[in-house]
Amino acid sequence: MLIAANQSYWLDRETGRLRIPIRGTEGIQLYLPLSEWHRSLLTDSTWSLGTLTVVPGKIIVLVRKASPPIHEPMSLIALDTNEDSMDGVACSPGETKLVAAPLGGVRLVQATHFRRRRRLASKKAHDWRVRRRLLAFEGRRERNRVRQRLHLVSRRLIQVAEEHEAAIVLEDLRIPRLAGYSRRTNRRRNMWPFREIHRQIEYKAALAGVPIIKVNPAWTSKTCPVCGARRRDRVGKVFVCLMCDWEMDRQINAGMNILKTALASNEALARAVRFQPGALRHDVVIPLYDLLREGGGAREEPSGVESRPSTRVT
Ligand SMILES: [Zn+2]
Repeated sequence: MLIAANQSYWLDRETGRLRIPIRGTEGIQLYLPLSEWHRSLLTDSTWSLGTLTVVPGKIIVLVRKASPPIHEPMSLIALDTNEDSMDGVACSPGETKLVAAPLGGVRLVQATHFRRRRRLASKKAHDWRVRRRLLAFEGRRERNRVRQRLHLVSRRLIQVAEEHEAAIVLEDLRIPRLAGYSRRTNRRRNMWPFREIHRQIEYKAALAGVPIIKVNPAWTSKTCPVCGARRRDRVGKVFVCLMCDWEMDRQINAGMNILKTALASNEALARAVRFQPGALRHDVVIPLYDLLREGGGAREEPSGVESRPSTRVT
């Protein structure tokens, strides 16, 4: 591995020509294959270049940018993170809507790859070296596909938040949701894609000046947002309150509680948006964006072809 500080290499931001001096006048020169995305960063002078790292198969160039000031939110989008979508409420002074942000088929991709890995493992059971290599390859491919889809989702979500001058409220995934969950559910909820979608939302929000509020996820899916009663037993697809007559889709219900928690610590915003969950009883859930209609559907790789470039600028 070779690491070069930003003064000790030279990169032409137009052409991708990279020169790393080694000793005296000796050096390595190569062209980095630049994608549209790489170019968009490199030609934007607000991004400055940082450390360069060379590892087998990859060249990593750190780029950095001063984050803009965070906007004062006028509204809130509170979302509970689930396997197929993020669900909850968008709440602004004039209007509150039940919303869902679909995750672009991530679960399907994962299920397909899981089956493929299992088949591979049994087919190559006799040769652990081949098996290990193929499984690692499959794993990387799955990760790339999932990541690709999540980038679309996080980008759209940040756009929507910007349009509505909204803060985004999410569960703090670092706090384990032990209350009332089975071990299996907790394990699933700590899965990589949940953390990855939050990671992407957070860094894109920071770049766009969109505020992010993280709340403690304890009891969010087991509390009635109307009367505050808690259920200590299992909650099915629909949350039904035992104390009042409230009924709501479990995931949307969790999103409502996430919003309530955020408002509890922000009085000014709570007064402005005046969130009344009871009034939303019969509302339909509106998608926050439409990934397919916007032509932004995640592109499928041709099967069996690795489309990753050998060099990556991150
Ligand atoms: Zn209730």
